[in-house]
Amino acid sequence: MIEFKNVKKVYPGGITALDGISLKIDRGEFVFVLGHSGAGKSTFLKLILHEETATEGKIVVNGYDFRRIKNRQIPYMRRSLGVVFQDFRLIPTMTAYENVAFAMRVTNIPEKQIRSRVPYVLNLVGLKDKARSYPPELSGGEQQRVALARAMVHSPPIIIADEPTGNIDPELSVEIMELLTAINKVGTTVVVVTHEQELAAQFHQRTIYIEKGEVVADTSAGLRDKLV
Ligand code: ADP
Ligand code: ADP
Repeated sequence: MIEFKNVKKVYPGGITALDGISLKIDRGEFVFVLGHSGAGKSTFLKLILHEETATEGKIVVNGYDFRRIKNRQIPYMRRSLGVVFQDFRLIPTMTAYENVAFAMRVTNIPEKQIRSRVPYVLNLVGLKDKARSYPPELSGGEQQRVALARAMVHSPPIIIADEPTGNIDPELSVEIMELLTAINKVGTTVVVVTHEQELAAQFHQRTIYIEKGEVVADTSAGLRDKLV
């Protein structure tokens, strides 16, 4: 689903953000990508989304080989990834319902389908009763769940959560992690990008540890306590 082979990213100006990263994330996995500030996590995310291009190496995401991807294919590739951004990126003047519906409207999905799908995903994240609320009226945890509902709207095979616990209270962090775990249990690949080592330690899942642009540890679920 996600394959990086000897991926290097050097930004203009000469900073090497990723220095030869190789990893594979398969269908159905739950993976933490863990690293301190400056380790290269955002760069990793930007490369997956094709917001930045690799300086060297091979990247394949959901069957799209980035060395061959056409510009017109990029929106389709991105739609195969559901991303929950750290700052949620909701439209404040649209209700929770409309924020989710908007993600479907831009892809020309028939209104009838939107009307059945949006309440369904809002219900999955426990926000059925908040459909008519605007983001400023919602708590951080609720806004994040709207963002998660929006990420799930196209049933992407992969959900990526960027620092999911960064902007919410600790109790809510557990809640969102449990939601992500439940989503993973029904077959979606989940990638959680975080700097919080304790969060990764708590959930006993595969952890890819990035330090100074390199993968310094990659543990499978059962082994992680021994290796990190
Ligand atoms: P993290 O998300 O783990 O904090 P980043 O991927 O943002 O790490 O950064 C990795 C390195 O690349 C850092 O040294 C950072 O300063 C540098 N960097 C990130 N983005 C850019 C950019 N657009 N231009 C130049 N250097 C960058
Ligand atoms: P209508 O067929 O009455 O025009 P729409 O589906 O266009 O209905 O919805 C009108 C507005 O009502 C939407 O923009 C949205 O804000 C709100 N809405 C629609 N369905 C729901 C829902 N299930 N929950 C909450 N709000 C909804």
